[in-house]
Amino acid sequence: ATLFAGVPEAPKDPILGITEKFLADSSPMKMNLGVGAYRDDNGQPVVLDCVREAERRIAGKAFMEYLPIGGLRDFISESVQLAYGEGHPVIADKQVAAVQALSGTGACRVFAEFQKRYMPGTKVYIPAPTWSNHFNIWRDAGVEFAKYRYYQPASRGLDFEGLLEDVAAAPRGSVFLLHACAHNPTGVDPTPAQWRAISAAMKERGHFPYFDMAYQGFASGDCDRDAASIRTFLADGHRLALGQSYAKNMGLYGQRVGCLSIVADSARDAAAVESQLRAVARPMYSSPPLHGALLVTKVLQDKELKAQWYKETGSQLTWNHVTDQIGMFAYSGMSGEMVDALAAQHHIYMTRDGRISMAGVNSRNVDRLAQAIHAVTS
Ligand code: PLP
Repeated sequence: ATLFAGVPEAPKDPILGITEKFLADSSPMKMNLGVGAYRDDNGQPVVLDCVREAERRIAGKAFMEYLPIGGLRDFISESVQLAYGEGHPVIADKQVAAVQALSGTGACRVFAEFQKRYMPGTKVYIPAPTWSNHFNIWRDAGVEFAKYRYYQPASRGLDFEGLLEDVAAAPRGSVFLLHACAHNPTGVDPTPAQWRAISAAMKERGHFPYFDMAYQGFASGDCDRDAASIRTFLADGHRLALGQSYAKNMGLYGQRVGCLSIVADSARDAAAVESQLRAVARPMYSSPPLHGALLVTKVLQDKELKAQWYKETGSQLTWNHVTDQIGMFAYSGMSGEMVDALAAQHHIYMTRDGRISMAGVNSRNVDRLAQAIHAVTS
């Protein structure tokens, strides 16, 4: 027998395995609806203009040195502010331990290792269903996992009662993995009132939340609104952990840019925790990659680029009324001035009360209509 004859073929990853099948298909009709990566109208990857500009600004700079184990200081500081809110008391009081991470996956992995070492005996409770890699990550760190009820097929919504029952039944001090916004794969998020109830229920049981935030800015178009779940928990006095990814919201997938932070009780505890996060990272990958972190830092530190980024992530308004309203018309909520601008600048005509006759919208003009509406409302 050969040396590795006893090594079985590993099962294919349920998401990335689909890309392999897609690439092997030679049909011109093929579509890849498996992997979560934004594409333009021609199916090509999207690079944001703000990121291109950031690239221009760092081009040619002498920046090939190693980063420290914990990553780029300014990047971490910007990331933490983006999540918790600028000037949040936990930041001002130095209660936040944070390290740069290898995107959202790496943040989860380092946290799972930290949990294994410093939250001994705790399980991680993972929503049913969830992003499939969550199971592998905590399994490889040697942390036991259990599921909590999340999605209710009958209502295609949140199993709120089931979730609260599972929170109440879990052993005190359990770790609960929560998707901060834009739950993957269901797209079902708790309402603000439900988040408050979940926070209160978890506080009562002394549970510790790990927020996985892979889509900040992409749920509502507003980074602050998308972080509201985390801020609700902070306001309730929770200590918590957070994994941030810039894969989707800055289109930096392959650059592996993310951040892991843990909010502790005191500056002393935060410093100790942060030193342990570095101790986990050092033998695992030594130090994180530099290029993507520099790009994010440029975008977040520069007022203009940051504004451009917000704009590029899409409308900050909610448009669910367009699909919620019934009948032939969509009462858009646009003002008379916005309607005037649509006519003057975009050759699009409707009544000045903002009423859109949906009968005039077709597959060929809907994109231009959406872009024009975004232009006059943002
Ligand atoms: N967490 C969730 C919920 C996700 O949906 C994803 C990506 O699909 C990730 C984490 C990790 O992505 P990345 O490691 O590319 O940041």
